[in-house]
Amino acid sequence: MSDPSSHPLVDRHTHLEGALDSAWVRSEAERRGLALPGPLGTLWSGGAVPFEGFIEAFLFGAALLDSQQAVQEAVRAVARRTRQAGGVGFDLWASPHFLVVYRGQITLDAFWRGLEEGLAEALAEGVRGCVVVDAVNHFGPKHGHAVLDLVLPDLPPYVKGFSTGGLEGSPFRDWAPVFERAQAAGLRIAAHAGENGPGSNVREAVLEGGVARIVHGLRADDATLDLLAERRIPVDVCPSSNAALAVDVVPHPLPRMLRAGVRCALGTDDPGLIPCDLGTEATAARSMGLDDTTLAVLRQNGAEDAWCLQA
Ligand SMILES: [Zn+2]
Repeated sequence: MSDPSSHPLVDRHTHLEGALDSAWVRSEAERRGLALPGPLGTLWSGGAVPFEGFIEAFLFGAALLDSQQAVQEAVRAVARRTRQAGGVGFDLWASPHFLVVYRGQITLDAFWRGLEEGLAEALAEGVRGCVVVDAVNHFGPKHGHAVLDLVLPDLPPYVKGFSTGGLEGSPFRDWAPVFERAQAAGLRIAAHAGENGPGSNVREAVLEGGVARIVHGLRADDATLDLLAERRIPVDVCPSSNAALAVDVVPHPLPRMLRAGVRCALGTDDPGLIPCDLGTEATAARSMGLDDTTLAVLRQNGAEDAWCLQA
């Protein structure tokens, strides 16, 4: 039996915009004279809110990322959380187009510098991170191209991937040209799929979008799980986030996914909003009936498929 602690521990999925520590957000809101949105307090105290409430809380945190220092602070929070749970790496989703162009609240240069400084600081403390640029699925493929127009001309070396997130409102087959363009620029491709959209999105993302990694994949049916296993497609699973945002998906499909041979690994998603870390996620996995051997597999997959640990 493999020892769970023998593989490096990696947070396989976490968002910059959902990373800020509650203490920092509270003091920053006070300094700016902003009232905290109600759903944020509910989430911090472990309550569930409707998806719109989550978005309100998410946008409130995202709006604070308007300087290099704030972005760096968010990376610092990710690194600290990872380190405190015994982790050595994280794959960090970040949305430059949303903050720089859509919201117009920070320059691209300040955004990249905040990430670069934060990642360097993390590395100095033994935690290696990389960035996955996130585009908004429901804004459609035209938006996807606009994200690439923004980031590709001067892509920092720590950006390893391109992904879609948000609501799964736009078919993945329509995203295929965007994914192809990102891949041609050397980026790996991931997608949030089968989270707030149907399980068929997972199959479509892989077969028609050419997606190489799935975030969540909660609603995938057995045939799709077989496909994911056969193609060795990594799937990032975030139990605390799922419990708050995909309340109808019960029981959690993680045990079923693992039985099908899918290369699942654990991530924290938005721990600044939905309090959790790699420790709570492992505990959640254990409470689904998974034993030490299976937890070791999760951890091994987490390291082997992590983009932050790859060249
Ligand atoms: Zn996510």
